[in-house]
Amino acid sequence: MHHSTDDHTIPPVSPDLIETELNEALLALLRPAAAFILGLHAFLILIYPLQDPWPLWGYRAMVTGGSGAIVLTGFFLLRRGQVDAARVYPFAAFFLALPIVADTAGNYYLTRDPLLLSYFLLTAVLFGYFTLNRRWFFLVEGFNIAAGILTRLATGERFAESAPYAGILFASLLAAYFLNLAHRRSLMRMITLRHGERLAREVAENLQHAGAALTSRLSTPAVLEAVLNNLANVLDCDRAAVLLKEGDSLVITASKGFPPPGGGASYPKLFIGDASDHGIFPQIVRTRMALHLTDVRQREDWIYLPGIEPAAVWLGTPLIRGDEVIGILSLVRTSQRPYTREEMDRAAIFAGQVAIALQNASLYEQIAAFSQKLEKEVEARTEDLQRAFTHLEKLDRAKTDFINIMSHEIRTPLTVVRGYVQMLARDPSLAADPQIASYINGINMGSFRLQELVDSLLVMVKIDNQTLEIAWTEFAIIDLLKLVIGELEEILKSRRQTCEIEPAVADLPPIIGDFDLLQKVFTNLLLNGIKYTPDEGCLTIGGRVSSRPGNDPTAKGVEIVVSDTGIGIPPEMQELIFTKFFQTGQVDLHSSSKIKFKGGGAGLGLSIARGIIDHHRGHIWVESPGQDENTLPGSHFHVWLPFTQ
Ligand code: ADP
Repeated sequence: MHHSTDDHTIPPVSPDLIETELNEALLALLRPAAAFILGLHAFLILIYPLQDPWPLWGYRAMVTGGSGAIVLTGFFLLRRGQVDAARVYPFAAFFLALPIVADTAGNYYLTRDPLLLSYFLLTAVLFGYFTLNRRWFFLVEGFNIAAGILTRLATGERFAESAPYAGILFASLLAAYFLNLAHRRSLMRMITLRHGERLAREVAENLQHAGAALTSRLSTPAVLEAVLNNLANVLDCDRAAVLLKEGDSLVITASKGFPPPGGGASYPKLFIGDASDHGIFPQIVRTRMALHLTDVRQREDWIYLPGIEPAAVWLGTPLIRGDEVIGILSLVRTSQRPYTREEMDRAAIFAGQVAIALQNASLYEQIAAFSQKLEKEVEARTEDLQRAFTHLEKLDRAKTDFINIMSHEIRTPLTVVRGYVQMLARDPSLAADPQIASYINGINMGSFRLQELVDSLLVMVKIDNQTLEIAWTEFAIIDLLKLVIGELEEILKSRRQTCEIEPAVADLPPIIGDFDLLQKVFTNLLLNGIKYTPDEGCLTIGGRVSSRPGNDPTAKGVEIVVSDTGIGIPPEMQELIFTKFFQTGQVDLHSSSKIKFKGGGAGLGLSIARGIIDHHRGHIWVESPGQDENTLPGSHFHVWLPFTQ
């Protein structure tokens, strides 16, 4: 890295800037200067009061006090920001120096006191140091000389007498002048250095800002726009262009100061594929190094564009990503001002930032395009799914409608059949013949089961259509269970099974619900228990007060568990069995008996149970270690019902 503190890299400082800087330096000097000169004068007033004749003493105090007041007023105004420093300081300097110089000179010529002479010289020389503004220096020192001449004329001295003192006076003025000059010089040098440093800092800051501005852009056009907008803060050039590589060519992708290509066409592509080509662009791409043309006219292959000021100096800086040149930053100056080393370094840094920003943008664009594609795909899939879902919904509705219609259609003739069968069953002459009696019994049983099935279907349709009506009553669950078991007693006996209610169930608080519908639920559960438990098995009904499943402590209710010692249910089926028409066994194998071991049903019982329990805002679920016909792990059906509805 080239250091910017080298002299030749410090740009010249404008006269205006020097003037303001000098004023500022004066501002810093004037306070101690004022203190010093006023202090010196006060001292003079103090040590010569007796020696001086009255009028002179009074005059001296008046001049000091008056000029002191003017200086203080100047400071005061300056502090309040009512006047600017450039006006106050020369003014204040003048008023400070005037009394001391005039007074001391006058005193000297009147008294010839050597002590006064030394003060006079000191004052004159110091004033030379303090006055940075040359105009004021000459004015005040002019007063000094005039005062000398005037007092000499007033006292009527002859030239020969005053010549040595006049010589001393001039020597002191000369010394003051050179001191002034040296002081100015050293200040100027400091100002120039400080200016250079500030400039370098500004450049660094601008580079940093430009980098931040570039890398925050997320699309290639935005990056290019930011490049051209920030370039002026970073580098001084008259025209600029960004050329990006596209295959074997370079394309001007963004430019500032170039005329747009005629007729709405795009700029011509610059072919760089030929390795033997010594043109400036192929050279930069090949060497990956910047190319600086200090005098463009010496290049015969330079292409001058019509209609714009011809280029004089050119700097081409490669945009490098990894090992590859992805483009060129082209910087044109139309006047003969070659780029400095420092400027070329700056261009390289800027080009690095541009390359990074372009890469970021291109990565972002890729990601954006990908996510857009993904989004479209998801949309299409969602649409497919939605379509399939609507189709399924339609099918489901059609099925429900079909079941609904068929159930109603079957119910009417079935009622007729059952009416006649019951009449036949009551006829004593028919009952006498055992053969006919068993036929009638068969028809009666069959039609009863058909009736049950149709009823179940109708309940299910109501659940599906959300038209199930609930007759809310308050009752003890034990009463309901006893009734259900009573009705199943015959069946239990035929399978030599037992069903026990645990004592805790009798103590459960009452619940609110539809007695008939809940009776259906527990009948189904117990019938299933009977069906999927071998002969001589036993069923148990337990119960307790518990919170809503899923740990909701605010909702309390009753949890009834119907357990059997049957074949159990595999874990993967434990949710499925609650869906409509679902059976774990094979449909074509089932023996279709309501009470036989593993006798299949329509697969409606549990789905109706869940529908009814859902309508009670309760929960129904099963727990079972798994299915095994030999070890008989058993199943536990839980029904949770809330106390309040
Ligand atoms: P189904 O009319 O077939 O009994 P359900 O809806 O009542 O219809 O039951 C669905 C399926 O759940 C049954 O086919 C059976 O495989 C299984 N199942 C229900 N209860 C039990 C149980 N207590 N033990 C084992 N399996 C059961």
